[in-house]
Amino acid sequence: MSASSYDVLIIGAGPAGIQAAIHACRRKAGVLLVGRPENSALYKAHVENYAFVPGVTGGEELLRTGLNQVRGFGAEITDEDVLKVAHEDGLFQVELESGRTALTRSLIFCMGVAKTKLGVPGEEEFLGRGVSYCADCDANFYRGKVVAVTGDRSAAVDGALTLLGYAAKVYLVARELHVSAELLARLKASPVEHIPASIEEISGEEGVDTLFLNNGETLRVDGLFIELGSKGAMELATQIGVQLDAEWFKYIAVNRKQETTLPGVYAAGDITGPPFQIAKAVGEGCIAGLEAAAHVRRLQPAGEESGPDHIQEGR
Ligand SMILES: Cc1cc2nc3c(=O)[nH]c(=O)nc-3n(C[C@H](O)[C@H](O)[C@H](O)COP(=O)(O)OP(=O)(O)OC[C@H]3O[C@@H](n4cnc5c(N)ncnc54)[C@H](O)[C@@H]3O)c2cc1C
Repeated sequence: MSASSYDVLIIGAGPAGIQAAIHACRRKAGVLLVGRPENSALYKAHVENYAFVPGVTGGEELLRTGLNQVRGFGAEITDEDVLKVAHEDGLFQVELESGRTALTRSLIFCMGVAKTKLGVPGEEEFLGRGVSYCADCDANFYRGKVVAVTGDRSAAVDGALTLLGYAAKVYLVARELHVSAELLARLKASPVEHIPASIEEISGEEGVDTLFLNNGETLRVDGLFIELGSKGAMELATQIGVQLDAEWFKYIAVNRKQETTLPGVYAAGDITGPPFQIAKAVGEGCIAGLEAAAHVRRLQPAGEESGPDHIQEGR
């Protein structure tokens, strides 16, 4: 199968990838956006903390709107996964699930992070209906309600303390806690109730209402926050030698231009580390899109233009 060529290839069809595609197109780059929107962290979210979008808006709707904008700006979109990336002499070869190979002068990694799953019955079923992986995002939906957080590290304790500002009652379900003495002291001084157990099943009807614990007890809750830390989607990046961050070793290291350690390769969104928020993802996506297009332009002989002809130069 023959390979198609692009100026900028973006891996990931979430907020970071969508915004990167829009800004790269505005700079007249020929763009391919690869990824499944239904696998974006945003897909099942209910968003109310993103500026200019009042009220509570479904993530699926936001993604659909963004992808329509991307199409309108002239990018090609393919709803599939990237299997492999290789590079030689500044040209990247991207192998797609369909068997097609795409060639590009510039790559933007926007693959998000895969949240570590609890792996119990009810977790998938109640995602967005009582199960959440982000206390900062969803705490406000649990005002005056009873919630539990599960996880044995600082992300869980921090999530539980955050939720205290919203919920009427907060449980922290963890067999043991592996956190600093300072954080443990803050937890003990707070009204969070630590239950030394693990969750075996999440159950409910319309939404979560009961957690079944390994000690035989049940916990009545309106929501469960799973805070087990996050696992970066790093395989593709490390395949071509892009370096990870020095602090956690699970996010892609970038500078203020969203450049990775490999020339022509950029990263944006959750994949570069917290905070895991749409506003941060689109901000970084904007910079990455502009910088990737500028990189390609620097490589082109004077007078040679590419990309969708009908797009005027954006500011
Ligand atoms: C339940 C929930 C509620 C949330 N609520 C809010 C909120 O209210 N406000 C807020 O600001 N944020 C919220 N967030 C966080 C927000 O959704 C993320 O910060 C945001 O989606 C990150 O965008 P991203 O583009 O970096 O990654 P993602 O949106 O996760 O997109 C990653 C993309 O990469 C693709 N991908 C991964 N691997 C490959 C591959 N090998 N090949 C091709 N494509 C690949 C995926 O399919 C997906 O399309 C919430 C998250 C969750 C889970």
